[in-house]
Amino acid sequence: MGSVLSLVEPNLHLVDVDRRKLLFHVPTSALFELDGLSEALIARLRAGDRTADDLAQALAPRYGSEPVNAAIDELKTLKVLSVDGSAQLNAEPAKVTEFPLNTVVLNVNTGCNLSCTYCYKEDLAAPSKGEKMPLETAINAIEMLLRESPDQDRYNVVFFGGEPLTHMPLIRNVVAYCEARFQKVRGSVDFSLTTNATLLTEALVDYFDAHRIGLTISLDGPKAMHDKNRITVGGKGTYDVVRQKVEMLFSRYRSRPIGARVTLTRGVTDVETIYQHLHRELGFHEVGFAPVTSGDIAEFNLTPQELAEVFAGMKRLGRRYLEGALQGRNIGFGNMHRLLSDIHEGSKKALPCGAGVALLAVDTAGEINLCHRFTGSDLPRFGDVETGVDKPALSQFIEARLDRSGTGCEACRIRNLCSGGCYHESYAKYGDPSVPAYHYCDLLRDWVDFGVDVYSRVAIENPGFFDAHVTPRRSPSP
Ligand code: SF4
Ligand code: SF4
Repeated sequence: MGSVLSLVEPNLHLVDVDRRKLLFHVPTSALFELDGLSEALIARLRAGDRTADDLAQALAPRYGSEPVNAAIDELKTLKVLSVDGSAQLNAEPAKVTEFPLNTVVLNVNTGCNLSCTYCYKEDLAAPSKGEKMPLETAINAIEMLLRESPDQDRYNVVFFGGEPLTHMPLIRNVVAYCEARFQKVRGSVDFSLTTNATLLTEALVDYFDAHRIGLTISLDGPKAMHDKNRITVGGKGTYDVVRQKVEMLFSRYRSRPIGARVTLTRGVTDVETIYQHLHRELGFHEVGFAPVTSGDIAEFNLTPQELAEVFAGMKRLGRRYLEGALQGRNIGFGNMHRLLSDIHEGSKKALPCGAGVALLAVDTAGEINLCHRFTGSDLPRFGDVETGVDKPALSQFIEARLDRSGTGCEACRIRNLCSGGCYHESYAKYGDPSVPAYHYCDLLRDWVDFGVDVYSRVAIENPGFFDAHVTPRRSPSP
């Protein structure tokens, strides 16, 4: 009897586009169109045929022995077919010695002028009690970025809070410092910030426009939804003022597309209505949704039922994205666009995001954190801006996440797109950012499967969409 052959299910995902059968190859995120023979081979293997002889016996009369053997070899090369169960799903975990840092997040003020009900940031204080970052700390952070990673083509400086607009003197000084400093290095610099918009003025908007500072506005949808949680310190809803500020912003800011970031918490799940309002009525270029599943205040976490509703709504919106993409339009649904961009770029994500490798966050005391969500947490810091990055500690952390052995991610079919999920979610849920965040894997797998289907349709029926809408997004013209 010959060797036992079996399909490596975690490495393949079959997609039907009209009558065409495609194989999404999980290890490389590449799409292959299956011919009749490969399709028949996979079907036989799924039906229980186990050896090359079985397969040849069943398929050679129609396709010929040589083509059957060649197709078997091809599937083996792709690691879609294993011999005697020997397929290795993941590369050996690598040693991490390089940190290609290109982004530093500056937590400019722990304070915020609002009092959103669901917000419990580890180091958030009332505006008057907020700790502000000294200019010297910010400059040291920029110098740390250049010292640790001098060879990047592009650098990003992100202003974060609390509410970053509560410390504009620092932002203006840092922008001026960087604009002069980055003239003297090879790489260019880009600025961005996320704001609740309430403190925007015409003069500020003109300043952001002149310096091409990218803006994302936090808001949660139409008035009733937004005012449920996004309130002033005195308890008043902020929708009216945010809307007025956003209209003013759109009337004078031209330099970059403006995105909206929506926090979905208990009782706020209607992504289609929110998208409709923010994209169609207010005019945001892109709307991104952040479902809260393991926030610090448990009563605001979406229930499992609500989370399922959110994903169902995202899929309905995803179908509208697909319709738009087939006509060459990007409808500005950020989550879908991000997923398709990852698939298109053949992301083989070994890690869920750039935190700790390409991105670090600096808190008001100048200490280095994995990302903005860890500032003020109990997680030990990874150095500070004066002494530099604690590389041994960071390597140890990243290497632990790279090693999938013994985790549920090891054989998961979306392991190269999810990569175990957000470190902060794991930290909030399990107290340990190095373990994967398992609490909604089934929904995530369903969402990514859906994304692969959408991607395949677009790739087959309107491949020009990716050139027009994905490539420029990653490398915007100056
Ligand atoms: S966290 Fe869950 S969905 Fe993500 S790769 Fe791991 S097992 Fe798969
Ligand atoms: S760890 Fe989570 S919150 Fe931090 S950058 Fe990564 S995905 Fe975002």
